[in-house]
Amino acid sequence: MEELMFCYQCEQTIGGKGCTKAGNCGKDAEVAALQDLLVYQLKAIGFLGNELLKQGKTIDKEISKFVADVCFSTLTNVNFDPERFICFLKEAEKIKENLKSQLGTLPPNIPECVNYKLPDSKDKMLQDAKKTGIMYDQTLDANIRSLRETLIYGIKGMAAYAHHAHVLGYIDEEVNNFFYKGLAATLDNSLTVDDLFNLTMEFGKVNLKCMELLDKANTQTYGNPVPTPVLITKKKGPFIVVSGHDLKDLYELLVQTEGKGINIYTHGEMLPAHGYPELKNLNTLLETSVVLGRTNKKSLIIYQDVY
Ligand code: SF4
Repeated sequence: MEELMFCYQCEQTIGGKGCTKAGNCGKDAEVAALQDLLVYQLKAIGFLGNELLKQGKTIDKEISKFVADVCFSTLTNVNFDPERFICFLKEAEKIKENLKSQLGTLPPNIPECVNYKLPDSKDKMLQDAKKTGIMYDQTLDANIRSLRETLIYGIKGMAAYAHHAHVLGYIDEEVNNFFYKGLAATLDNSLTVDDLFNLTMEFGKVNLKCMELLDKANTQTYGNPVPTPVLITKKKGPFIVVSGHDLKDLYELLVQTEGKGINIYTHGEMLPAHGYPELKNLNTLLETSVVLGRTNKKSLIIYQDVY
């Protein structure tokens, strides 16, 4: 039986094998297909960007920001809006053309995704997406496929850190450039298992650099975290539950709800936010309105870290 989708990018994947009808996370087959096509476009951008870098050229920061933001958007639970992905696909098409014109003469044997033309209609995009899924090429060696996907999921994770650092005004050229190098490598049929393994190790170092960048962005913006008691009871009154880990979004939410008697509940990844002095200060102003709530299926998450 033909599978409606295939995604095994996170620990929630069904049966530890893959989500094939709908995601355990809530992602449907349509969004999964659009994300597959978007990753296909991102690989083409990676190839073109990497060629430019090899020529010693630099890539516009806005393009690198787009690449990081869009990689981030395909992570688990970040965005399930098909219209948003269609916008990203169209923007990616424009960026491909831009990079091609910067390159001038294209190198020989370019991958198919570089010359792919995005159709106008969603129906046609969904048709095309069938040829871009993880398992489409059944002839691909399983270890090569696995290492390429490992690199892509690592890049998606680094994209989340890079996105959060970007929104606070912090960028790093080495981090930005690795997006192109890593994405291009997933198209390079000359790379062996050892090559891809070594590249994954190299990626790990760049990823640590990106984590340092985000730490610097967070601590220089909100101060060094200090041990902080966290209220773990519920408070009476209207509330907002915050998911994700975007400190800037949390900061803005605290400012916008200041003095309005709205309790802001955090959980999971946002728990460390309680320790940052600038957020704690705002918290004091809000009369301890930042409290930890335990979420369950009946909880209403009305604010989420969505890109
Ligand atoms: S991201 Fe969603 S669809 Fe993909 S493996 Fe995780 S739970 Fe399944």
